Amino acid sequence: MAATAQGAARRARVVVTGAGFGGLFAARALAGAPVDLTIVDRTNHHLFQPLLYQVAVGVLSPEDIAVPIRSILRRRRDVRVLMAEIAGIDLERRVVRLTPDASEIPYDYLVLALGARHAYFGHEGWEARAPGLKTLADALGIRHRLLGAYEAAERVRADGVDLGSASEPVFVVVGGGPTGVELAGALAGIARRVLVREVRAVRPERTRVVLAEAGPRLLPALAPSLSEYTRRRLEALGVEVRLNCAVTALDDAGVTVGTERLPGAIAFWAAGNRASPVGSALGVATAAGGRVSVLPDLSLPGHPEVFVVGDLAGATDERGHLLPALAPVAQQQGRHAAAMIRRRLAGRPTLPFRYRDHGQMATLGRSAAVVQIGPLHVVGLIGWLFWLVVHIATLIGFENRLLVLVHWAAAYWFDRPSARILFDFDGTPPAAAGGAGAGPVVPAAPAGDSRATPRRAPRGRAQSPSGVGR
Ligand SMILES: Cc1cc2nc3c(=O)[nH]c(=O)nc-3n(C[C@H](O)[C@H](O)[C@H](O)COP(=O)(O)OP(=O)(O)OC[C@H]3O[C@@H](n4cnc5c(N)ncnc54)[C@H](O)[C@@H]3O)c2cc1C
Repeated sequence: MAATAQGAARRARVVVTGAGFGGLFAARALAGAPVDLTIVDRTNHHLFQPLLYQVAVGVLSPEDIAVPIRSILRRRRDVRVLMAEIAGIDLERRVVRLTPDASEIPYDYLVLALGARHAYFGHEGWEARAPGLKTLADALGIRHRLLGAYEAAERVRADGVDLGSASEPVFVVVGGGPTGVELAGALAGIARRVLVREVRAVRPERTRVVLAEAGPRLLPALAPSLSEYTRRRLEALGVEVRLNCAVTALDDAGVTVGTERLPGAIAFWAAGNRASPVGSALGVATAAGGRVSVLPDLSLPGHPEVFVVGDLAGATDERGHLLPALAPVAQQQGRHAAAMIRRRLAGRPTLPFRYRDHGQMATLGRSAAVVQIGPLHVVGLIGWLFWLVVHIATLIGFENRLLVLVHWAAAYWFDRPSARILFDFDGTPPAAAGGAGAGPVVPAAPAGDSRATPRRAPRGRAQSPSGVGR
């Protein structure tokens, strides 16, 4: 590299795109390296996605699970933090292009960590009617629809119109992977445990939560016995689990799940991942879900100065299977990319990335979870306590972790989640937030979100998105 050849003349310029788990861990692992680092993200915060569903159902506030990137990296004088939208990468000129002002950031080394959005499998028109859960805006949008549905029901009854039990909201969660399972359980919980004490005109305990999975089982990445436990547990919470059952229509009047029409149903999407379009625009080979194919050291073929990590990377394990879209994969890859940049700067060869698989877990409502750590399976309350400890440990990195812990514990023990303020979030009045909308008729993809990718039994410690903390 020119920068290294010049030695002290100029420090290498490293640009990290995206401050999610992959980008942030890369940036942190470059501390003390002889580089000038710029980290760019379209938001001003690092987001702890695993707890997004708790924001969506009003248990946690956005600030509980997001921290300003500047704050996290405040002690790093070598780091420039930019909030900007990345339009693309010019691999030949080695610049990151920003939008809308068309400015450019030159780099000597680049870490691409732009994550993924939802996959609507060619039916992007469904997104407005069945929003997914990836960002704070998504979570607040879901919260808006959820709480708005009950506010609308109360208002209807106040008008003197008795709609009977038909006016209880119907929620459809599309996709039986971890996000769908966690969201469905949380929706049923908020209706039956919390709103039941507060809403008068309708009976929240009669709220229908339908979880539609096109494949034969929930949580397909876990053992079949855990899938079965998950189904039974969710049904006990009041979730209607529909397996081998695709959503076939989504329109303004409702949702069709298999052959059942659910008029006025409100849909949420948890059925798949599509890697950032910045990756597919690179003009290089991509794997399933638009993930960028990388060499074993995570570099881009033909571009040893570019590393791709996290949900955007199409890295494979030793058997050639795509690694799952999980926080620990992104974290480990971010650290690996940083280590490979250090090796390149030192004139040493790079090394292949090896994923250390620590297992998987998902919560099922308020006090149960499934945990799979290699051959070890833990379910129920013990599993939930395990999940809780892992996530609290993960939150330890956040400045306000004690407050978050108190806030969270209070919401759980007193069943009084407090983050339920409706405001003019997107200009859409809550009353209009329900319903689906016109859309094409196709089956939803099976297997839930792409956290369901791995094809082998996980090993080792329980997988957690931990390590965010300082
Ligand atoms: C609801 C949900 C729950 C999850 N639960 C778990 C769990 O329990 N355990 C687990 O291990 N994993 C979980 N995951 C998966 C995990 O969060 C992801 O695998 C991980 O966040 C991927 O890290 P990343 O750095 O690749 O992408 P991200 O964390 O998504 O970060 C990408 C960053 O890039 C930024 N960005 C994107 N495009 C642009 C652009 N054009 N310009 C500028 N900035 C841009 C984004 O703002 C974001 O900050 C969950 C995911 C979701 C959505």
